[in-house]
Amino acid sequence: MVCPACQKEMVAKDFGGVMVDVCEDGCHGIWFDWMELCKLDEQNEGLGNALNNALTHERANDENRGQIKCPKCSLLMHIHKYESAKEINVDECYACGGFFLDSGELRTIRDNFMSEEEREAYTQKLLDGNSEFQKAEDALDKDKARDEAIRKYTRFMRLSYYCTGK
Ligand SMILES: [Zn+2]
Ligand SMILES: [Zn+2]
Repeated sequence: MVCPACQKEMVAKDFGGVMVDVCEDGCHGIWFDWMELCKLDEQNEGLGNALNNALTHERANDENRGQIKCPKCSLLMHIHKYESAKEINVDECYACGGFFLDSGELRTIRDNFMSEEEREAYTQKLLDGNSEFQKAEDALDKDKARDEAIRKYTRFMRLSYYCTGK
């Protein structure tokens, strides 16, 4: 499979029972098929040299990279904050559920992993501090406005739903 960020050939690696694709000769990005990332996003998950290796790579600056195409579906991937570690922008393919992480992002995700309770508290804080959400909440149709605001600013249920019962 070709790396969606730098077009180099990726190599399949065993991160302790989970096979992922690593861009070894290029940008050190990692491809996770559907459900694979949530098996590796906490510090106690996964093991082995390949994983340890991947965790040593420097964090890449992907701020200005723009959208990339899913290496499996060729559709544009969506950039959004990772649900369990909000400071990280990840690329997700909404069609196949795959994730692409730039170099160093897996380590940052694992270092900043938030539990479900922490995630909910964080989301609430985000909503409380958001003036557009406040305005929406003050609007006449409160329930509908609230739903829309939540949909717009967070997608925190999505991955926790996928990962339930892992
Ligand atoms: Zn690459
Ligand atoms: Zn895809």
